[in-house]
Amino acid sequence: MRVVIVGASGRMGLAITRAAVEMGDVMFVGAIDRAGASVVGRDLGELAGLPAIGTRVTTDLAAALGDAEVVIDFSAASATLGNLAACASAGVPIVIGTTGLDADVDGAAERAALQIPVLIAANTSLGVTLLLELVRQAARSLPTDFDIEIVEAHHRHKRDAPSGTALALGRAASSGRDVEFQPSVLRHHADGGVRPAGAIGYAVVRGGDVVGDHTVSFLGAGERVLLSHQATDRAIFARGALRAAKFLSTQAPGRYEMGDVIRLKSIV
Ligand code: NAD
Repeated sequence: MRVVIVGASGRMGLAITRAAVEMGDVMFVGAIDRAGASVVGRDLGELAGLPAIGTRVTTDLAAALGDAEVVIDFSAASATLGNLAACASAGVPIVIGTTGLDADVDGAAERAALQIPVLIAANTSLGVTLLLELVRQAARSLPTDFDIEIVEAHHRHKRDAPSGTALALGRAASSGRDVEFQPSVLRHHADGGVRPAGAIGYAVVRGGDVVGDHTVSFLGAGERVLLSHQATDRAIFARGALRAAKFLSTQAPGRYEMGDVIRLKSIV
């Protein structure tokens, strides 16, 4: 599989590089980072602490797409619209793992998906793909007087909050309850006052090197159900992203999600 990685020298870019070298059947035909980054011109393998692989970091995605079968983007939200446009015009599928995306990305992804396969996933791990289903199922099964609260923790460098995964979990809970997901009513406990009925609450912890913890609590009268996932190694996101890329490179244009890639056995 011939891959271009965007955000090549970031934590995830390098984790994907290491996972790909372990897998063995991935060739990086491009490694893109932001203009002005000190890593431009460096060998991707060496940046990942491995022997050189002969792919140097550059900054122009469109110029790197000629020979690519798929793009994997774990960079910055400000780059997403441009990356989608470049991939659509070159006819190259794209996996977007970047989080904190602006509201206009969804429309742009729909338009690009007329020309190429597009998969946007705030979390590419097997465990969170399962957790999303469990949360949907719990929200569907439990009465609506169980309050839903989502708590997430990440390392001190993370920029967006609540995490894209926390929002995806909120979306899954909303879909299980058959109510519209409304990011505009996110509650961060900063506004005080009594908990509004039916609201989904989010709380955020930032610090240290936490790779990513998420707990969805269903809080009823006299009992509570907690569904949790803890990531201890970025390799889980990297392997999932590569699996998604392999899947996407053979699909027809359209929108896809991790549930299409990782086929879970029925949990209903
Ligand atoms: P990071 O800050 O370590 O790396 C981001 C990289 O992108 C850096 O090398 C940066 O220079 C580069 N970059 C910035 N602007 C760019 C641009 N315009 N074009 C190309 N490259 C650019 O961050 P990270 O921890 O690797 O995370 C990257 C993104 O992936 C974040 O949005 C994070 O939330 C998300 N993430 C997603 C998952 C998932 O499973 N989907 C898992 C972990 C992290």
